[in-house]
Amino acid sequence: MNVSMEKMLTTDNKFRTIMIDITQKEVWFITGSQHLYGPETLAQVADNSAEIVKALDSSEVIPVKVIIKPTVKTTEEIYETLTAANHAENCIGIITWMHTFSPAKMWIRGLTALQKPLCHLHTQFNKSIPWGTIDMDFMNLNQAAHGDREFGFMVSRLRKNRKVVVGHWSEESVQKQIGDWTRVAAAWDDWQGAKFARFGDNMRFVAVTDGDKVEAETKFGFSVNTYPVGDLVEVINAVSDTEIDELIKEYEESYNISENLLADGDKRSSLVEAARIELGLEKFLVDGGFKGFSDTFEDLHGMRQLPGIAVQRLMEKGYGFAGEGDWKTAALVRAMKVMGSGLEGGNAFMEDYTYHLDPENPRVLGSHMLEVDPSLAVDQPTCEVHPLGIGGKEDPVRLVFNGRATDSLNAALMDFGNRFRLLINKTIGEEVKEDLPHLPVARVMWKPLPDFKTACQAWILGGGAHHTCYSENVSVEQLEDFAEIAGIESLVIDENTTIRNFKYDIKTSEAYYKLH
Ligand code: MN
Repeated sequence: MNVSMEKMLTTDNKFRTIMIDITQKEVWFITGSQHLYGPETLAQVADNSAEIVKALDSSEVIPVKVIIKPTVKTTEEIYETLTAANHAENCIGIITWMHTFSPAKMWIRGLTALQKPLCHLHTQFNKSIPWGTIDMDFMNLNQAAHGDREFGFMVSRLRKNRKVVVGHWSEESVQKQIGDWTRVAAAWDDWQGAKFARFGDNMRFVAVTDGDKVEAETKFGFSVNTYPVGDLVEVINAVSDTEIDELIKEYEESYNISENLLADGDKRSSLVEAARIELGLEKFLVDGGFKGFSDTFEDLHGMRQLPGIAVQRLMEKGYGFAGEGDWKTAALVRAMKVMGSGLEGGNAFMEDYTYHLDPENPRVLGSHMLEVDPSLAVDQPTCEVHPLGIGGKEDPVRLVFNGRATDSLNAALMDFGNRFRLLINKTIGEEVKEDLPHLPVARVMWKPLPDFKTACQAWILGGGAHHTCYSENVSVEQLEDFAEIAGIESLVIDENTTIRNFKYDIKTSEAYYKLH
């Protein structure tokens, strides 16, 4: 783990991601060559690769370990190294580089077998051409300019998606691009074999939050299964009073607690119940090895409150979540939390709730009934209890706060029958300046790009869900890379979007997936 990352993970309690740690994950750096050049040149290749790997491994913008592998020179060595990567538990992907020329037919077998994400670093060991001393020996060592093209042809010929990063390995922007990709690869790794729990089914009659869970497991590697809410209630009811007292102490240290929830307040029992739900829910998730979950207000039999603060705090800890049985968004939230782990800012379940249609400054107010992730809070949340018209249960306890003014985006995952679509819209988070005395939920304001009307028109044409993952630290490029690793469609609405082009994107994409 590099120093800055360690600092970020341990000192900034506000952005904690307790159950996500990608710093022990590895990417393997594999340099391709051949025997043509003789042992002296190959020793030089290995030395140069080691120097590059040392720089990448100690880079503050690359959050995972970069591990050097011996230079591969034959079909067999390539196959063995790439299949070893498939089976290495901590290996989340490979970085390849052709310092010299590596005839790419040697790569067919290995690349065909490769199951982990691939980043092709198109770099050169030497930064500048040494004009006064350059000779054919130099040329034969520093030939990535064509060696990497031979490799690139083969990856394209095999129709394999991959990331291509271009530039000198010492450049901060090159290292950042690699680091961002490793975050994406870590999220993909996290999904493989991940388990998501559903308490109750999809909200009745709702379309966009539903989908094909068999196809999702095939495409994405995670499984989604249902658990009776009664089983959860049993675990909740078994929570001890001592545990509840301890958790309430933590609430009192972490939030401004409203008066009626204090020790002598007339709603104290609601806080006790909320703490009981949180402890039971967390125990159920930990015991079952789940990385996320969904629930629904239509199926709460035996529960006294709709889980509010419980879900909010579990999301802050790193669990993926979405309401109303929306397992796709729950999984997406988890993946984006992994991508953003250790960074400032949050990744959170969100819903476009209501609009401010001021023609001069139209904005979206994002929120949910209760379940907004406090990793978005601009300052210390307040802990409050209020009635909830939906669900027919006792008043639920929730954390109330406002979001931050910062660049952000919304991403949504939909099932289109023949494919999944990841729709991404760049947004600008705004400070919530108004008092909202009668709206006791967390609220986040944003302006979508390129402008409100174009963005909303495009989102609706793109079949975008009302549930999203709102992110303050994951980029459009990362989500596009993620979609490529998954082999699914991605569409972007950003500062360059026009409706005419966006419609064209949808149509060409439709044709692509019909042929695919
Ligand atoms: Mn909802």
